[in-house]
Amino acid sequence: SEAEARYVAANSASRAAHETATASLPGGNTRSVLHWEPYPLYIISAEGYTLRDADGHTYVDLLGEYSAGIYGHSHPVLLAAITETAQRGLSYGGPHAAEARLAMLIKDRFRSIERVRFTNSGTEANLMALAAAKAFTGRYRGKIIVFDGAYHGGVLLFPLGCKDIWGAKEEAERASKYKVLRALNAPHDFLVATYNDIASVDALIESVPGCLDNIAAILLEPMLGSGGGVCATPEFLSHLRHRADELGALLIFDEVMTSRMYAGGGIQSELDVRPDLTTLGKYIGGGMSFGAFGGREDVMALFDPRAPGALPHAGTFNNNVLTMNVGATGLERVFTPEKARELHDLGDEVRDRINGLGDDAPGPGKKRLRVLGCGSILVFHFTGTSIENIASPADWKADEDPRLLDLFHLEMLHEGFYLARRGYVALNLALLEQDGRGELDRFVNAVQRFVVKF
Ligand code: PLP
Repeated sequence: SEAEARYVAANSASRAAHETATASLPGGNTRSVLHWEPYPLYIISAEGYTLRDADGHTYVDLLGEYSAGIYGHSHPVLLAAITETAQRGLSYGGPHAAEARLAMLIKDRFRSIERVRFTNSGTEANLMALAAAKAFTGRYRGKIIVFDGAYHGGVLLFPLGCKDIWGAKEEAERASKYKVLRALNAPHDFLVATYNDIASVDALIESVPGCLDNIAAILLEPMLGSGGGVCATPEFLSHLRHRADELGALLIFDEVMTSRMYAGGGIQSELDVRPDLTTLGKYIGGGMSFGAFGGREDVMALFDPRAPGALPHAGTFNNNVLTMNVGATGLERVFTPEKARELHDLGDEVRDRINGLGDDAPGPGKKRLRVLGCGSILVFHFTGTSIENIASPADWKADEDPRLLDLFHLEMLHEGFYLARRGYVALNLALLEQDGRGELDRFVNAVQRFVVKF
């Protein structure tokens, strides 16, 4: 396309960097999600809310490292904490005060977390939470209920449509996809239900022989992040709570992506429903590798090494001083509940403005732009389905025009805005603190031009 030709002409240094990288990295990087056709931009530096690429272009960073980059880049308070920490050593091989300090801050923020433990990633946090659920319920071979379109980490993938793949092993093409997931995913016995669909959960539970003793956990994101920004309804969550209690299974909220919401207490802060366990990740480590799982004191007591038969939980860098100290400093001094609320409201405002544009824009036959998500996470879709009718990823996917999304991505890059190819935006604090509101106005105008043009 014309947009792609323009992209290639403007990004020759990124192309050269990509070619060099492919000599040692399959596809040129170590995170599949960062690849796009014809090749991604290679970033050389970042500051505040901007990124600079190999060809010398500067972009407004709207990707925000898939929500891990909430502080923007090189925040002075965090830089000072990094330097000060590094001068006292990085990894002690012993417990230390910053670990307890970060744990206390997390406990204060997330209403269902009574005790917490750290990991190196959100993926690991989910793996540990599933292990805890099996051990706590005594259902070592118990099944885990998850949802179509969910993402819980690199070895816990439930891409849209896997619900059908799971059940349709005989069909060649589907079977090969099934094998890929089977090979990649952690070897739990997963059952896949439809998000926001109470009947599908009930049917799934009833399909399990001896269901009352055989389900260890229900694991879900209260907003499907990778699944397109679809939020769970309160009724759905209440029903899951009720069913989990009835089954004696644990309800686990994956708030790795949504922990930033509202006043920084995650989506659970606005719900009546409390999960038994919650998993966290992303920005909470101040920009360092981070993950955590926590929840009910009696469940987390499984990991108390003083108890006979305690579950071991290891990880060399689980309590590394840099993550603990910088993470705690960020929560205490930068991403305060007040700032969290401000960022959340800013996101809602931008989403409303853009969704307002879609109403009077496209001509007949065109897909409308719909922005889903919550607070500072915005997910763009070009679909004929109205927002009110999107309850699960299948609803936007069925009617989506992926070519428009590709074009949107290239056009936004051309306008100077860096976002994920799949139309994902996570706003960062630098946009609030460094007068980035003007950039967001510019972004809304660029989106409007796109909607009118295409
Ligand atoms: N869970 C959710 C909801 C996520 O969005 C992610 C990452 O994007 C993860 C888990 C995995 O976290 P990590 O990439 O730190 O392993």
